[in-house]
Amino acid sequence: MTDIFLPSDLDELWRLLNIKPEAALYAGGTDLLVKRRSGLIDPPSLVCLERIQELKGVKECGDEVFVGALTTHSELLSHRVIRKHFPVLIQAIAVLGSPPVRNMGTIGGNIVTASPAGDTLAPLYVLDAQMEIRSLSSSRRVPISAFILGPGQIDLGQGEILAGVWIKRHQGFRLQHYEKVGRRNALACSVVSMAAIMRVSSDNRIYEIRLAWGSVGPTVMRFPEVERLLEGKPLTVDGLNDVIELVHAGIKPIDDIRATASYRREVAGRLLHRLINYST
Ligand SMILES: Cc1cc2nc3c(=O)[nH]c(=O)nc-3n(C[C@H](O)[C@H](O)[C@H](O)COP(=O)(O)OP(=O)(O)OC[C@H]3O[C@@H](n4cnc5c(N)ncnc54)[C@H](O)[C@@H]3O)c2cc1C
Repeated sequence: MTDIFLPSDLDELWRLLNIKPEAALYAGGTDLLVKRRSGLIDPPSLVCLERIQELKGVKECGDEVFVGALTTHSELLSHRVIRKHFPVLIQAIAVLGSPPVRNMGTIGGNIVTASPAGDTLAPLYVLDAQMEIRSLSSSRRVPISAFILGPGQIDLGQGEILAGVWIKRHQGFRLQHYEKVGRRNALACSVVSMAAIMRVSSDNRIYEIRLAWGSVGPTVMRFPEVERLLEGKPLTVDGLNDVIELVHAGIKPIDDIRATASYRREVAGRLLHRLINYST
């Protein structure tokens, strides 16, 4: 039988991790417990983080917002600060799983799972989110692009947890967009997803743009050269067409049970075209 521990605060968690270093952590359990039930993993003991208040909720700190790793998707979806400043994240969470999954699943669990199809990831990449990693004796911040190393692979050492996510407010990106294409509308992992945030002038010129694609490579992918090429140009079909070849060349989609690589390549370009809906 597997032992399950329920620490009530961080001090208790650090003590537990010291005596049970092989224990697997979980928050909502919507990834970890599903994998355990299907026999993919069999950890000797489990540590449930759900009682640790220090890891929950949204705080405004100066020009940044801190989102505790244990904050559920449903809490984020209805949170005033997240709705106001980060609509791209709201759009992504709105299509993540189903209401029961959003009620249990947490932003920390979505990030640490590090699936290229994880819905919160592409928005966090374009928002340049920083991960706060904590252990008994240290705390460090890492950009999400350095934290996620590959599918299911993250920069988290022994005794470390993801405490939360820092995102800058007031980034000035008035236009924010997230879209995923899945095999069905609800409860589907993305076949391809794209997050975009942009500043576009009143004469329809792109001042600044950040783009990220999910499910087209081992991690979420951004292409700074594509962003630089679009900046200063009008937001037009021709302008977007000019960079699509670069996107196709940069992404690294694979064939799997959900879609072929060539379909993913096609969809990645089509999602970029959606931005034309924001032209004036
Ligand atoms: C039916 C169903 C539909 C789904 N649909 C989607 C979808 O559309 N889009 C999508 O992106 N995901 C989807 N998921 C996956 C899942 O719900 C999300 O990834 C969710 O955010 C995971 O959060 P959790 O708290 O349940 O993670 P858990 O299962 O608790 O943990 C996941 C992993 O993160 C680790 N972990 C959790 N919190 C921490 C922490 N604070 N520090 C260190 N490690 C931690 C755990 O050890 C584990 O390895 C779906 C899952 C199900 C069952």
